[in-house]
Amino acid sequence: MKLCGCNPHFSPYVFLGMILVKSVELAEGVHVAIGPHFPQCNTVVLVSETVTVIDPGCPLETLRFTLRKLGKEINDIDYVVLSHIHPDHITHASRIERTSRCRIVANDITAPLFDEKEEMKCFLGFHKGELVRPLWENLVNERMYGALDEGRTNFVVKDQEEISLGDHTLRMVYTPGHLPDHMCIELVESNLLYSADIDCTEFGPFYGHWNSSITEFKQSIEFILSSNYEGLISGHLGQPLLREFKDPLKSFLRQFDVREDLVLLEISGGARTLGEIMAHPLIYPSLSNPVFLYFEKWMIEHHVQELLKKGKVWLKKNQILPT
Ligand SMILES: [Zn+2]
Repeated sequence: MKLCGCNPHFSPYVFLGMILVKSVELAEGVHVAIGPHFPQCNTVVLVSETVTVIDPGCPLETLRFTLRKLGKEINDIDYVVLSHIHPDHITHASRIERTSRCRIVANDITAPLFDEKEEMKCFLGFHKGELVRPLWENLVNERMYGALDEGRTNFVVKDQEEISLGDHTLRMVYTPGHLPDHMCIELVESNLLYSADIDCTEFGPFYGHWNSSITEFKQSIEFILSSNYEGLISGHLGQPLLREFKDPLKSFLRQFDVREDLVLLEISGGARTLGEIMAHPLIYPSLSNPVFLYFEKWMIEHHVQELLKKGKVWLKKNQILPT
């Protein structure tokens, strides 16, 4: 399949009224409707005799614009494929299903979470009674409206399973760590990998849930580094296609060590509890939003666990001490 070059004279940005929308074609029939930043994501649009969207978390106007450029409407979508359960990636899936009667495809961990939103909330650590839960729900409803709508998946796919959707074949690639259900999605004909939240952003890796795993996240990145894909499609970069992805991915991987050093520095400087380590923001540049404070807390907890495993710190009467 032919990959498309970037035309420097063509701006992918278009104003629709007051709204700036952007989409790019990466290969024959492979388009990306660009989000790109949290709480939105890049949405892959595949058009042949069927219309497929992967991770419908871009602004709805951008998705509509991208489809119309290809002579299609939201009603024409046949399949929505999900990489994982995060609200910024599933945002419009239920709404699209209601208007187009499309099929929703998700992996065997994501599917039951999508089908039962209470399960999803618990999976993400926002159990009933948690003080942060209503704040997180408000954040989702204000900035990712639709993600908590009831909906049902129709197809469940497993790791390495291939699905044929018109001219396009997708292969699910299990890449846990960010969350236990995180999968990248290989576009077989173009040999591109939609890497979802292994996104190579400047922020770095996100593992801000109780069930995220630094070890698994690193293994998933190492797996992609050992691959020979033609390029990565980031879930969150404004220029979504990284053809030379290995150096950016190595920089992304190094962020784990940078953050671990920051946590260790706080402990060496006298911080003895999670609260004391979190006296200053270490990962988020600002902790103005209490939900982000939770994400930061979970990420720092994961680093403390890593430091314990490596023997760089130890616990004495619930105090974290340097070795
Ligand atoms: Zn995510």
